[in-house]
Amino acid sequence: MDDGQITAIVDEVLGAYGGPKAPPAAPTPTTSSAPASGADADAIARAVADILKAHRAETPAPAAETVRASVPGTKGCCWKMVDDTAGDPVERILAKVMSEPDGIKPAAAPTGAGDGIFETMDAAVAAAVQAQRQYLLCTMADRQRFVDGIRAVVLEGDTAETLSRMTVEETGMGRLEHKIIKNRLAASKTPGTEDLTTQAMSGDDGLSLVEYSPYGVIGAVCPTTNPTETIICNAIGMLAAGNAVVFSPHPRAKGVSLLMVRMINEKLAALGAPANLVVTVATPSIDNTNAMMSHPDIKMLVATGGPGIVKAVMSTGKKAIGAGAGNPPVVVDETADIEKAARDIVNGCSFDNNLPCTAEKELIAVDQIADFLIHCMKGCGAYHVTDPAVVQKLEALVLTEKGTPNTGFVGKNAQYILEKAGVSVTDDVRVILIELPKEHPFVQEELLMPILPLVRVPDVDQAILLAIEVEHGNRHTAIMHSTNVRKLTKMGKLIQTTIFVKNGPSYAGLGAGGMGHGTFTIAGPTGEGLTSAKSFARLRRCVMVEALNIR
Ligand code: NAD
Repeated sequence: MDDGQITAIVDEVLGAYGGPKAPPAAPTPTTSSAPASGADADAIARAVADILKAHRAETPAPAAETVRASVPGTKGCCWKMVDDTAGDPVERILAKVMSEPDGIKPAAAPTGAGDGIFETMDAAVAAAVQAQRQYLLCTMADRQRFVDGIRAVVLEGDTAETLSRMTVEETGMGRLEHKIIKNRLAASKTPGTEDLTTQAMSGDDGLSLVEYSPYGVIGAVCPTTNPTETIICNAIGMLAAGNAVVFSPHPRAKGVSLLMVRMINEKLAALGAPANLVVTVATPSIDNTNAMMSHPDIKMLVATGGPGIVKAVMSTGKKAIGAGAGNPPVVVDETADIEKAARDIVNGCSFDNNLPCTAEKELIAVDQIADFLIHCMKGCGAYHVTDPAVVQKLEALVLTEKGTPNTGFVGKNAQYILEKAGVSVTDDVRVILIELPKEHPFVQEELLMPILPLVRVPDVDQAILLAIEVEHGNRHTAIMHSTNVRKLTKMGKLIQTTIFVKNGPSYAGLGAGGMGHGTFTIAGPTGEGLTSAKSFARLRRCVMVEALNIR
């Protein structure tokens, strides 16, 4: 933008007030199509402010009418509704400038089919940038409508079941009935705009507000273990906070992830939202994820996945949220209600075949109650493997040569895994329970399958120390069954996990049967904890000097 254009805008503002014209601009070498820099924008703001200040000292301004943020009774978002002829002229022009930020005309319509799916990452990001600029002028009520629309997509009819069935078929992992619960949990218990609470400071110097404001366009990487759940909960939280989002799904969950993005776009379009607030690429891949991470218009990265992708986003130099791997231990001491603990452990460990990063991955039991605990677990769905030959077969099947989990067995049913090891059981068996020493890879590795190693220890203090050791400092999730408040407190303090569940199944920590909101992005490494809208927002201070304090 050149000085001539700045002068024209200033003239337009002042003309609206019947004010003086700005001095003529000096000739400038920049062409009229050059985008305005931040410095240009500042220059415009300063010029308008200076001239208006001088002018207002002489002439009282007309009563300000607020540009209507949205039109009552319509479904559309404000950015489409700004009335070009009514309202305060300065606000009118500001609204116009904001709909074309930095004076840049919106690019030609992106090449997507309107369903949020783009051939290239560049096209997806460009569309999301344009959408987010328009979204800035939507009201909080609009945001909440869009967020509620995303919930409705999943909660209406049998959509949750369809998505869950597709996920099980496409990824070959997990259990249908549990995926339905997870999808519905993400849609119903992820907080919306109510999460964005304002802080206020008032006193002799006036009133200041600290508010949650969007980052812009967020790049969100999703895991194969919760593909649609992560899209649902991230889309709700990120849109509630005023952002647009580019998703990078796991290639193994491409079909269902693209369907989810399409369904969200259809709903948002019906609600009058700016197009392309939620986008992705037609061919998810590591290359596309890398392109997204390094794209200059992606202002924040959120990685939900294993250690590789968490490290990758944290190494970009951008604001990043890392929601990484866990290896949750569950401790049972002699004061616990053993029968209830047994039920909770089987239920938590077998939930979606142990795919959740929060699920019980190793059991540490005090010797005094270990045998009774095993007995109770056998009564509610655990198969106790005692034959060393079967243990060896299982090791050969589910571990790679490096001792890491074999992806062919991740998220499989206990019945399937046992069958491959030559043991025939019914599908009532949900967990494979094996007593092992603490050094065993089944204890040390995050297997993500319903094999639960049990390590016996002499007392609760040693159980707590071992739990800390095998959690590997992931700061993710731990569970304890005990009625000894001092020991519960000791473990909670020392283990430092983001989620610590006492006397319940691990999924209580996700808001399923426990207090608190739901999320499928649990950010231990970067410290946001159980993410929600406020995790995807920047804090900004807005200061009114010497006014609006009524104390
Ligand atoms: P994964 O790390 O293999 O993949 C996650 C995503 O990152 C995928 O989209 C994948 O394509 C991408 N990716 C992985 N490595 C990459 C690289 N080097 N460069 C670019 N992209 C890369 O994980 P997964 O198997 O899909 O999911 C399981 C893992 O995720 C487990 O470790 C689990 O604990 C963790 N997880 C954590 C949370 C949490 O909230 N903390 C939630 C779900 C899953």
